[in-house]
Amino acid sequence: MISADGNLTEMLFLYDHYLKEFEAIVLEIPDNRSIVLDKTALYPRGGGQPSDRGWLEVEGGKRLTVTESSKDHDKVTHFFSEDLSPEELSKLKGSTIKGVVDWELRYKHMRHHTALHILSGVVYHEFGSRITGGQIYPERARLDFTLDDLSKERLGIIEADMNRIVSENREVKTFWLGAEEALQKKELYRLSADLLPKGLDKLRIVDIVGFDAQLDGGTHVSKTGEIGRIRISKTENKGKDNKRIEIVLAPGN
Ligand SMILES: [Zn+2]
Repeated sequence: MISADGNLTEMLFLYDHYLKEFEAIVLEIPDNRSIVLDKTALYPRGGGQPSDRGWLEVEGGKRLTVTESSKDHDKVTHFFSEDLSPEELSKLKGSTIKGVVDWELRYKHMRHHTALHILSGVVYHEFGSRITGGQIYPERARLDFTLDDLSKERLGIIEADMNRIVSENREVKTFWLGAEEALQKKELYRLSADLLPKGLDKLRIVDIVGFDAQLDGGTHVSKTGEIGRIRISKTENKGKDNKRIEIVLAPGN
């Protein structure tokens, strides 16, 4: 069975970043602690964004706690922590479940993820630097750049520019382009070419309207104002042409 978007598991999180609940059919039960669904809004770890957590309510009312969601090609597997009896497991296949995203955690990831777009956009536009790595956490996020110098003055420019984009409350839009067309627009990708996904027909673009667009598969807030004030909390010299910038968001957002 192939879903509407051509994958075994339809990846609802790619189309609606604010979807918190969904219904799905159980396709596979690889073992007694994991489950594959025909669709999901639970984001699987990838692109520096951690896996979602959440819950699956199975028929009969039992609630499974999803501790990890992981993607392998066109299939998303959710791992849960409860023990199910062989009888419960046998009833699960083909049944309909309700999925719930741990929204508090996901929204933190979305705000930090979108903040990293602003950081990478500012550094790219100001200094022409590309990304060599990055990671999102619930309370902070970081990117590594091909940058030879990170003076106080440069950091001041980066921080001021980031907060200008936040205060302009710009729209963040998502759209798809054919892979060939997307890969010709070099300004869309900030990663080294060998880190780009291969063999896909179409690629998703995340566009902070009027500021910066990038190829991306993660989840984002829909307006930059939702991020709140961005502060550079740490920098690290990772080598002559490699600098790490860590950011935190103002509390209360
Ligand atoms: Zn992104």
